Amino acid sequence: MTSSADDALERAAGLVLAVDIGGTTIKAEIVDPALDAVRRADVPTPVPRPGPTTEAAGSGPAIVDAVIGASRDLLGDSAAEQRSRVRAAGVAVPGLVDAERGIARFSANLGWRDLPLAGPLRTGLGLPVVIGHDVRLAGEAEWRRGAGRGCDHLLVIVIGTGIAATVVSGGRTISGAAGQIAELGHVVVSPDGPRCGCGARGCLETIASATAIAREYARRTGGEVAGAADVVALLHTDPAAAAVWQEAVDALADGIRTAVAMFTPNRIVIGGGLALAGEALLEPLRRAVKVRAEVFGVPPIVGAAFGARAGLVGAALAAQQAAARAGSADG
Ligand SMILES: [Zn+2]
Repeated sequence: MTSSADDALERAAGLVLAVDIGGTTIKAEIVDPALDAVRRADVPTPVPRPGPTTEAAGSGPAIVDAVIGASRDLLGDSAAEQRSRVRAAGVAVPGLVDAERGIARFSANLGWRDLPLAGPLRTGLGLPVVIGHDVRLAGEAEWRRGAGRGCDHLLVIVIGTGIAATVVSGGRTISGAAGQIAELGHVVVSPDGPRCGCGARGCLETIASATAIAREYARRTGGEVAGAADVVALLHTDPAAAAVWQEAVDALADGIRTAVAMFTPNRIVIGGGLALAGEALLEPLRRAVKVRAEVFGVPPIVGAAFGARAGLVGAALAAQQAAARAGSADG
C-alpha cells in the first residue's frame, strides 16, 4: 500500500478497538490512526473447563464474554466524544481461524472448536468486527508498518509458546488452502528430538520456542525458571544456560534454512516473546544461518518493530480496513 493510501485509510478509520486473545491474557486497546494505544486494558484469559474440546466445554463462551467485558470497560472509561469515534474492532485469535466466516476453528490450548466469534462480538459491541489469526496479523503489522515495511519477499517469524511464520511473497501474504499460516514450528529439525504435540519428534518448536528453552534448562539443571528470559539472563554466567540457548539458536537456524530455501525472502523479521532477547538472539542466529544458508543468499535478520504489540497492531490495521469498508458502504 502506498503511504498516501495509508494516510487516506487513517483519516477514514478514526479510532478502532484492537483485541489480542492470548493463552494467559486478553489485551485490548483503543488505537489511534497512527497505531498508538490511546487506552489499554488487560484481563486474564478464562481457563478452559475440562472435557472434550467442543464449543460448550472449552473456554469459548467465557472468552466471548471476557472480550466483550474488557472492551465495554475500555469504551465506557473513554470520554463520550472519544467513544463515538471508535469505528470498528479487530481481534487477533490463536489456533486455526476462519477469518472470512468469523469463526475460531480450533485451539488446543484454549479448548475450543468451531467457536462463532465475530457475530457475537458484533452484537455485544455494536461495532463491525473482524477476526484474524494472531501470527498473520502480527506479520501484516510488521510488513505494512514495522520492520518489514517496503519488503515484497519477507518472512516474519513469531517465537513464543510456539513458533509460526507469515510469509510475504511477491507483495502478498501466502495462505494455505484452509487459510493457514506457515507452521514453521512443526518443521522437523531433530528426528530423535522431543515428542511434539503434533505427534512428530524434534519439531523446531520442541527445541526453540520460549517454552521449550525454559523447560529444557529446568530439566538439565533441576533449577526452576519462570521463562526463557531467565535463561537469557544467565547466558554469561551459567554454561548450562549458554548450551541450551545455542541449541535453540542452531535449531532455529536449521528451520530458517528450510524457509530460506523455499521462499528466498530478502528480509527476515523475528518477533514474539523470544525476540525481546534482542541481539542475544539475533547475533548468534545470524552467524548460524550464514553457515547453513549461504548458498541461497542470506537475507538480513532483524528484530520486530512492534514487539509484543504486533498482534494488536495487526488487529487495529484490520479494523481500520473494516471501518473504511463500512464507511464506503454507508456512503
Ligand atoms: Zn510438531
